[in-house]
Amino acid sequence: MSTTAQIIEQNETYGAHNYHPLPVVIEKAQGVWVYDVEGKKYMDCLAAYSAVNQGHCHPRLQKVLIEQAARCTLTSRAFHNDQLGDFCAELAAFCGKEAVLPMNTGAEAVETAIKLVRRWGYDVKGIAADQAEIIVCEGNFHGRTTTIVGFSSEKEYQRGFGPFTPGFKLVPYGDYEAFAAAVNQNTCAFLVEPIQGEAGVVVPEAGYLRRVADLCKERKVLLAADEIQSGFGRTGRTFACDHEGVVPDVLIVGKAAAGGFYPVSAVLADRRLMDLFGPGDHGSTFGGNPLGAALAREALRILTDEKLVERSADLGEHLMGKLRAIDSPHIDHVRGVGLWIGIVLKPSAGGARRFCEALMDEGLLCKETHENVIRIAPPLVITPEEVDWALDRLERVLKMD
Ligand SMILES: *Cc1c(COP(=O)(O)O)cnc(C)c1O
Repeated sequence: MSTTAQIIEQNETYGAHNYHPLPVVIEKAQGVWVYDVEGKKYMDCLAAYSAVNQGHCHPRLQKVLIEQAARCTLTSRAFHNDQLGDFCAELAAFCGKEAVLPMNTGAEAVETAIKLVRRWGYDVKGIAADQAEIIVCEGNFHGRTTTIVGFSSEKEYQRGFGPFTPGFKLVPYGDYEAFAAAVNQNTCAFLVEPIQGEAGVVVPEAGYLRRVADLCKERKVLLAADEIQSGFGRTGRTFACDHEGVVPDVLIVGKAAAGGFYPVSAVLADRRLMDLFGPGDHGSTFGGNPLGAALAREALRILTDEKLVERSADLGEHLMGKLRAIDSPHIDHVRGVGLWIGIVLKPSAGGARRFCEALMDEGLLCKETHENVIRIAPPLVITPEEVDWALDRLERVLKMD
């Protein structure tokens, strides 16, 4: 039995079966490249769902990790730590907001945002006790806690996990009229992904976000943008909201915040909102820890120093153009923005999984999403030559029978 088979079997035996990964076992990684336990090299075209935008094992992050780990890793928030102030100041400046509430995983940051907008609904908007509503979109993905899956439109995420938290209203994504019709005096917020990642890189019609943002302002509703996957350069702008000049009231970030070295997430808002939280209202033992904070500070500097946002825009446009030009009987259409692309296959293609498996044999790791979409989202440090290397393989596989 190969080492790969042994490790997978061990995982099957002792691990929970809540994922269906491709049969590849990675042992090391650098930049856009990962290596399996058999010594085979692959290009990573998923980038850990955009958590490694800065590339795998970035040497600068490695250095910070080691130095900070030798100095201090965790104090809890019972005390201050010397990284937290700089982290908050730098992340706030990067995101154009006044204040930061640090958490760890994306789902925790979304939960934090839900608490914040509800509290605003009661304390500022004057919604009657326990009546606040948050409008969310069909096809959303905001994480896996019971509250969050409770407002998913994906039945698989919910089955057997109820009862769920009330106070959420689903509307079709990208449909301004449906959103407008759903707003009422109890609406405290619209929680939305500016581009839906897990739904298969779904880009709403131009102007959608702008129009909902304007209506939010008019109807006294907070706009909470979940940029956990779309943020930090993935779409060719710092944040996906930037494409429409929209400034959300609440910005939720995670994933690439610490370049894949550590789970760091955060909710950002201006003081008038963030100050609705007082001591004891919310917290996290690990949130804002010095190790994560030091890593996140360096991860942000890398995005700027290496011009990764611009690179995402330029190379994304090139990649998208070339993918759209591929003459394949299987492709329905190609969508996306920046280095975040969904190749949508026709029903006759027989599902995206077999293409991802064929791409794996060609040395390219992608993951299907929702049966018929191949998602392409490499680390943003990818070079033009590497993009063309990937294109050769994609073209070959997309033309197979
Ligand atoms: C990944 C993701 C989350 C959840 O983040 P976790 O770190 O897995 O909890 C939330 N929202 C969006 C848009 C995501 O892509």
